[in-house]
Amino acid sequence: MQILVTGAAGFLGSHLTDRLLAEGHSVLGVDNLSTGNLGNIAHLAGNSRFAFLQQDICQPFDPGPVDFVFNMASPASPPEYLRLAIETLNVGSVGTENMLKIAEKYSAGFLHASTSECYGDPLEHPQPESYWGNVNPVGPRSVYDEAKRFSESLTMAYHRYRGVNTHLVRIFNTYGPRLHPGDGRVISNFVMQALRNEPLTVYGNGEQTRSFCYVSDLIDGIVRLAWSDEHMPTNIGNPGEFTILECAQAILEVTGSKSELIFKPLPQDDPTRRRPNIAKAKEVLGWEPKISLREGLNLSLDYFRAQL
Ligand code: UDP
Repeated sequence: MQILVTGAAGFLGSHLTDRLLAEGHSVLGVDNLSTGNLGNIAHLAGNSRFAFLQQDICQPFDPGPVDFVFNMASPASPPEYLRLAIETLNVGSVGTENMLKIAEKYSAGFLHASTSECYGDPLEHPQPESYWGNVNPVGPRSVYDEAKRFSESLTMAYHRYRGVNTHLVRIFNTYGPRLHPGDGRVISNFVMQALRNEPLTVYGNGEQTRSFCYVSDLIDGIVRLAWSDEHMPTNIGNPGEFTILECAQAILEVTGSKSELIFKPLPQDDPTRRRPNIAKAKEVLGWEPKISLREGLNLSLDYFRAQL
């Protein structure tokens, strides 16, 4: 297949591109490099089945005939989407519609990268896809949460009213090589701090929880969903749930670091807990994650060391 991947120079977009090329497909990778990094796809230079276009998907463009569109483009770490607030809203509305129009024009399949942030600070735990969420529509995080929720709505409308073969993946916290060392996420921050023997910056009291999925598990779930007949949102994430303090402890263990913990203010509307219910992915896709947090951290260490 000829496949369009937006956000191809990003963390997930670049891993997805590698996987699609390994399956024998051809990929046109698009990225405006606002948070993506050409280094993530440098190894693909010279691959005749890969081409790269530096392009903002908010501006219409025609990639030529494609069989499938993976819409992965968006700032995704909280500090980055707060810095790029308007851009995040635009890419999650205008950008998503431009990509849906490409899928419609070429009768291509379409998968949109949505997020567990659709559940906001969840009152139901763990979160099944049927939960509608608890999102502050006007808080600082709303630029990301509401853009992703609007993209889900738009994607469903193109499915229902225009007959596009769409898929929606709700991605939970993911980590691994190519996670930008300076993007401010908890795993990249803690690992880089631990490797530098600097204090680990715990926000709030560290009792809030997240569930961390290793990148290869996540990409496998996304690809299975893309080739499936499932059109409603599907959680892909690792249900292993850790407090941020437990996450810090795991990182100190695998790095052997003696770093201390320091406590910083909790960002506004930071979800107190997050854990995917993956019963649907198990049943419909035969998917479940295989790599534990400590295994995945060990698989990521060489990459983070190289970023020092
Ligand atoms: N966090 C932290 N220290 C950091 C970065 C993040 O304690 O240096 C916390 C953050 O407040 C949140 C969790 O770790 O509760 C996950 O944050 P991240 O930015 O990775 O992603 P989120 O799940 O909030 O989108």
